Amino acid sequence: MNSSDTSKTPDSASVRRPQFWQVAKRCCQIAGTVDVAFFFLFHVLGSPLLAWVNVISVSMYILAYQALARRRNRLAITLIWTEVIVHAALGTLLIGWDSGFHYYLLMFIPALFLSMPLRGALAALVSLWGFYVVLDVVMWTGEPLQPISRDALLAVHLFNLSVVFAMFSYLSFFYLKIVSSAQRKLRKMAATDPLTGLLNRRHIIDLAERELARFQRNLHPIGLLLLDIDHFKSINDNHGHEIGDKVLVDVANCIKAVLRNHDLIARWGGEEFLAVLPDTNLEQARASAERVRQALMQQRWCFDGKTVALTISVGVSEFQEGDELKSAINRADKALYRCKDDGRNRVEVCTDCEVTV
Ligand code: GH3
Ligand code: MG
Ligand code: MG
Repeated sequence: MNSSDTSKTPDSASVRRPQFWQVAKRCCQIAGTVDVAFFFLFHVLGSPLLAWVNVISVSMYILAYQALARRRNRLAITLIWTEVIVHAALGTLLIGWDSGFHYYLLMFIPALFLSMPLRGALAALVSLWGFYVVLDVVMWTGEPLQPISRDALLAVHLFNLSVVFAMFSYLSFFYLKIVSSAQRKLRKMAATDPLTGLLNRRHIIDLAERELARFQRNLHPIGLLLLDIDHFKSINDNHGHEIGDKVLVDVANCIKAVLRNHDLIARWGGEEFLAVLPDTNLEQARASAERVRQALMQQRWCFDGKTVALTISVGVSEFQEGDELKSAINRADKALYRCKDDGRNRVEVCTDCEVTV
């Protein structure tokens, strides 16, 4: 890749935190609008120099917005940083610390950590702190270069304070949204199997334990299916692991389509699935398993132009009084073994379950 190619490549940070850059665009719009307001305000308040500074600021925000739209995020951040730092410094030096222009610098603190890696953020933070302190000390010891009347200063101070309040609130709301969405993603990742999107083993155990506790209280029947694809290894061996993965996804979808929405379905391991069927007795669970088996048989499984007869074996059990989850699953597993011993492509009910029709 040549250097011009590199310049057109979106910054990696934009890929990392796309929402942040959406908010950065919104901030450019808000800040640009605020600066248009400043242009008129400073004319009225008798500080034409500061008024014209805002024309440059608005142009910089327009450029930064366009850069963000083209995913030139580093350029956009440089423009925004420069604008805020120069504007805050000029406003403070010209009309004084009480103008409140320095508050805008503080808004960068949380944004720094979201827009760059930790090391860079820490370095930028220290620089920002140094700049803030120097500005404070300069104004502590010196006088504003172009003071405005006390009432005008109060107006600017209140205006700046209110804008910073509003933007901080907006950014905080956004940070909260980022954190909540990250938590949601993590929860989903912790509960699901990445290949099939079904529940993972750990999560279905938690949910099944809850179902078992509910069963022990009200004795509403709960069925269990342990489903295992027949001769899956030979599909991998003959067609490759990738096709094997596709088969797992399709089988998972087929099981999901046949069972009810409130049934719990998990990838139990490799090519095995576990389903927990609330309010379903042994006979009904067996019928559900049979429907899954038929549905899979009816699906056309075609690899490299060859049609393959893909089948599944299903062991069925149900919760019993005083049961432990492990024993109910073991009974389904025993039934599954019988399926395999008896030639596969069948549904077997555990023999030591009481049949409640
Ligand atoms: P049986 O009818 O007795 O169940 O035979 P089987 O070949 O289905 O069972 P076996 O336990 O011998 O082989 C299971 C295979 O599943 C072996 C393993 O490589 C494969 N497998 C496990 N997890 C995955 C996966 O995530 N993707 C793919 N493609 N294959 C997997
Ligand atoms: Mg198998
Ligand atoms: Mg297996």
